[in-house]
Amino acid sequence: MLCAVADSRAQAPTIALLVDQPQTLHVDGRGEMEVRLEGPFTLLGQTRNATGLDVRVQASAIGGGVLHVRDTDGARPLALRALALRLEREGRPVEDALSVSRGVPNDAGLPRSPRAERAEDPEAFRIVVDGAASNLARMRRLEPVTGVPTDERNVVLHDTPHGRVSAFFRLVADARDAQAPDVGSQLLRVALGDVVEVEIDGLTRQWPVGLPGDATGPRARRRARVRAHVVRWRGIPAVGGSDEAARQLVRDEIAIANALYAPCHVDFGVARDVDVFVVDAPPPTLLGVADGDGLPASGGTVRLRANGRRISVSIPTGSSAVDTAERIAGALRRAGFRARVTTNPRTRGGAGPSADVHVRDASGELVELSADGDAPLTTDARQRLHLGVVNLDDGLDGFEDHDARAGRLEERALIHALADDDPTTIELVIVPDFARRERRGEAFIPSDGSAVASALVVDREGLLESRSAYTVAHELGHVLLDLPFHPDELSEASPTRLLSSRGSDATVRGPKRLTADECTRLRTRGERHGLLRPAP
Ligand SMILES: [Zn+2]
Repeated sequence: MLCAVADSRAQAPTIALLVDQPQTLHVDGRGEMEVRLEGPFTLLGQTRNATGLDVRVQASAIGGGVLHVRDTDGARPLALRALALRLEREGRPVEDALSVSRGVPNDAGLPRSPRAERAEDPEAFRIVVDGAASNLARMRRLEPVTGVPTDERNVVLHDTPHGRVSAFFRLVADARDAQAPDVGSQLLRVALGDVVEVEIDGLTRQWPVGLPGDATGPRARRRARVRAHVVRWRGIPAVGGSDEAARQLVRDEIAIANALYAPCHVDFGVARDVDVFVVDAPPPTLLGVADGDGLPASGGTVRLRANGRRISVSIPTGSSAVDTAERIAGALRRAGFRARVTTNPRTRGGAGPSADVHVRDASGELVELSADGDAPLTTDARQRLHLGVVNLDDGLDGFEDHDARAGRLEERALIHALADDDPTTIELVIVPDFARRERRGEAFIPSDGSAVASALVVDREGLLESRSAYTVAHELGHVLLDLPFHPDELSEASPTRLLSSRGSDATVRGPKRLTADECTRLRTRGERHGLLRPAP
């Protein structure tokens, strides 16, 4: 909206308007006032006020015209001029929203020539102006809450047969991307929800980065909720050295993930507001039945203690792992505890699914399970029971190919102790190390049928490599895409893709890109599993 104050007593300057953008002009005047338009302009309305008249005008085409004003002092003309200002993407005006580029910022998708006719990057855009007096535009990012402009720059426009155009631009979200060599003047760093404003001849137009959460379509903003846990082992948090430093490191990871998922219009919330819990490794609070092999019972007696209370239950011959788990859970409930049974997908070579019993006290606090003195947990020689002991001295047991869907008992014991009961949150767990030292992260994807779903575990090294391997964002990709594979396992090497299994590179060529197909898939799967919601 423009408020052009035209001084009627002096030689009035020409008033510029944007085509198709209704604008309000204030015209000074006294007494009874009348206005009339000449040229490609339409009068939308008028309001009398103390100093004159507010006239709402819209231009329908480029060109000049006159606003004739009459008041008690007589008649006078005010010159009008309409110009067109638009952004163009793939040869068409940008009507909805701009998007962060999915490309490597300085790759060939962004033409360097200021007179290039088209860009390979479907999200690259240029300024197109018709009928302007100036050949210099201003472009800036507006911070969405305060409206404070940042990163303002002059943009030179070149006359072409198609109008006065700028070079092509890309939006980037990541700080390192914004430093890409050779193309700095053609990049604008933004975040989802920002506004890009362009000014020419004193007139401005704005375009949002992504559409609001209540919109539909691929540019509508979506948000995933992450709960993060940094595990303290022997008093020391897995990263950072102190609780506060650990929280900050995790929030830095969320900020990086926000930048990497911005091209898909997905974020993980304001990084500084993400819940990060720094917690001691839990006591044994989970009991594994037939872990790994899923064998049925040959019959026996189960004996254990929960917070010191003795629990005993006999198991009939032939009971499946889940039957046994339910019997134990029943005995725990009768003793006043909360007990819940989950099943784990059969491992390769296993006889059937195994089961876990999760135990809390009546107020929801963790319960410590232990053997009852020297008695074995079960007298059954075939169907074994194990306490879910988390012992990080030797690193966290990570899954292998044959039990990837079930995960290891130690992992399940850890994640279940930390996770909430809300399946629509993603649990991020930071541990000191994995038992397999070369492992950096693991993801439990929603459709695996696992009792652990939508969770990721990353070790200290994985966090420290955040700027070259992007481990947290990579594992989040497995969860949101609901995909256990890596593109480079299925086809050719793709070192710049976030889902690459081997990528590690601290430059703009690093493994940080999501493809258009991946954006589509992660939005579809993420919404189906309730992991993505409209961004507020
Ligand atoms: Zn992976």
